[in-house]
Amino acid sequence: MLPLRENAKRNRSTWIQYCPFCLADDEAPYFRRQWRLASRVSCFVHGCGLRDRCPACRGGIAAFDQTELIPQHFCARCGFDLCRAPKATVKAAARRLERAIDDICRVEVAKGSPPINGLVSRLLRAPVAADVTSAKTLTNLSTSARIRCFESLAAKPDDWLAADKDATIAHRRRLILAAGGHDRLIARFTDLLEKHQDSLRPKRSSPPGTDLPVLLTAYARIMTGTRHFVRWSEIVSARISAYDPNQDLTLRPG
Ligand SMILES: [Zn+2]
Ligand SMILES: [Zn+2]
Repeated sequence: MLPLRENAKRNRSTWIQYCPFCLADDEAPYFRRQWRLASRVSCFVHGCGLRDRCPACRGGIAAFDQTELIPQHFCARCGFDLCRAPKATVKAAARRLERAIDDICRVEVAKGSPPINGLVSRLLRAPVAADVTSAKTLTNLSTSARIRCFESLAAKPDDWLAADKDATIAHRRRLILAAGGHDRLIARFTDLLEKHQDSLRPKRSSPPGTDLPVLLTAYARIMTGTRHFVRWSEIVSARISAYDPNQDLTLRPG
């Protein structure tokens, strides 16, 4: 979580970030909970970088510090409409890393893995791994400094995050990092299964109750039980709606 500060110096974090395009799309603009996370630097909807300052007065966003009641998307200091803030860019590799980190955290929280504390402290030390010198802790860096940090880490080996004495956990983290996120990994796995099933068709009959859409729906239900797990359910729904029941697309033992 980003810390609350009275005055944020340049390169230092502020209390909250925002995506100007999300605010502009909202009927009643509001700040998202995930914009408080130091591990988030881009908008998963618009693909642009988040911002943590008003582009007009350079002040941190302090919607809670209003002297008069105004909508949240106006800077409390100078009144600038944050929906009009220019687009910030983040390299695709850094966005893939961010998405993979988000998914790794969610998977490890959902599984209740003990190494989650170790994972959090590694994330906090990310600026050290990235050789970003303005602060040693991720939560202390401004959004633009964290974007640079993620861009630098995306070009480095993934040991800073993936390595673990439990080989299974390290392997799972590497798979998610290599795929650029959990949903992409599952999508690839599903494609592979489909190809495999195509090559087997129509040699065997399908056992009841084990077809792929049913399995994916059940898995999506488990995963949507974890907080914010929206993207995964979207991809599963898309896959299920694209599913043709006349095709013999089933999972078989062996
Ligand atoms: Zn957005
Ligand atoms: Zn301002």
